[in-house]
Amino acid sequence: MKIIENEDMLTKDKEYVWHSMKPYSPDSTMVVDKAEGSWVTDHHGKRYLDAMSGLWCVNVGYGRKELAEAAYDQLKEMAYFPLTQSHTPAIKLAEKLNEMLGEEYVIFFSNSGSEANETAFKLVRQYHQQKGEHSRYKFISRYRAYHGNSMGSLAATGQAQRKYKYEPLAPGFIHVAPPDSYRAPERADCKPAELHSVKDIDRVMTWELSETIAGVIMEPIITGGGVIVPPDGYMAGVKEVCEKHGALLIVDEVICGFGRTGKPFGFMNYGVKPDIITMAKGITSAYLPLSATAVRKEIYEAFKGTDEYDYFRHINTFGGNPAACALALKNLEIMEQENLNERSAKLGEYLKQSLSAALDDHPFVGNVRGKGLLVGIELVSDTATKNPLEVTLVNKVIAGCKQKGLIIGKNGATVAGYNNVLTLAPPLNIEEKDLEFLINTLVEELQAII
Ligand code: PMP
Repeated sequence: MKIIENEDMLTKDKEYVWHSMKPYSPDSTMVVDKAEGSWVTDHHGKRYLDAMSGLWCVNVGYGRKELAEAAYDQLKEMAYFPLTQSHTPAIKLAEKLNEMLGEEYVIFFSNSGSEANETAFKLVRQYHQQKGEHSRYKFISRYRAYHGNSMGSLAATGQAQRKYKYEPLAPGFIHVAPPDSYRAPERADCKPAELHSVKDIDRVMTWELSETIAGVIMEPIITGGGVIVPPDGYMAGVKEVCEKHGALLIVDEVICGFGRTGKPFGFMNYGVKPDIITMAKGITSAYLPLSATAVRKEIYEAFKGTDEYDYFRHINTFGGNPAACALALKNLEIMEQENLNERSAKLGEYLKQSLSAALDDHPFVGNVRGKGLLVGIELVSDTATKNPLEVTLVNKVIAGCKQKGLIIGKNGATVAGYNNVLTLAPPLNIEEKDLEFLINTLVEELQAII
């Protein structure tokens, strides 16, 4: 192997590291070696406020020594044992998650959001078989949503531009339009089942034949597709339709969970009890990899037959690693002690209101939306036509912010490949003065493109 001594890290990075998403670029690639609170420092010593918490995941902020210590203590005590058997950190974490979910759920641990969703798909298909309903295998998900990078979770993803080079993906995934309160608003006084976006799912299930539908997977708020907040009754409507057709509802809380929307889990904003809940990211605030698939006990009970093939034949070497579970417990303790759900709800509302007020007359700001510290700003070329703003201008805002030491995200896929929604998901313990810096910098950079 070639070893390059004393050379700039970016040069080595170009040589050795294959990045996700974008190719190497000297203007945008950062090597980050230090992080504290809501701030990261690159290897030139420049500091940035990370208003995306990495990939929407460092919920309790960077540099929490308690989390490092929890993992260290556990690694010394017992570093690894597979969850084909059990260990105390996994048991305690499963108990804690149950308490947070407010109902009886059984937890299957994995390492990433994609795996948590794959686990859910396999488990749901087998569940129907255990019940003798062998024809149920199809999953319904929404266009614009992201559910992961593996063959099943990418099949569930509704963003063609991320998928087409890897097809054929896992079969049996069907997409429907997401609700879009900005481009296709629904009547506010509608009953859940009367929403167009819900009736669409009902119709698709009928046309596909109810008895072939295994489940629906949805995020409470579509995050990676442009922070799409549904009408209040939408999730209840989807649950109703699932029950009508005998399908299970999987709620993907990979981003929305752990305080991001101002509640322990995003679905708690909508008064619905999901059948299955998948979670990752904020469960450890990304300090270590860990994910979980929480399954309603009645579903779990269906796997308890006596036949040799009745059990869930799904195994995961690293899933529920003891150090990751111990760290997750400490992370959840911090969230409670620091009231981070409430803080996210309060600061998120302030962030949304401040941006809405400051950008009210902006010709390119079509919509400011979100819940808790999850905010999207949809940029359009014209607020009447709502055509997405050209990408060079969107990028200009992001680059301008970065220049001033603020990292924000973009997403959207309003039109395939068009990312015209700026995204904000800062650590939930972001300081008020940092929030002001975020608001002022972003508004300045948005004013600069007029
Ligand atoms: N679901 C959602 C909603 C996500 O945002 C992501 C990742 N951004 C995933 C699943 C997949 O998670 P991972 O990258 O940990 O596999």
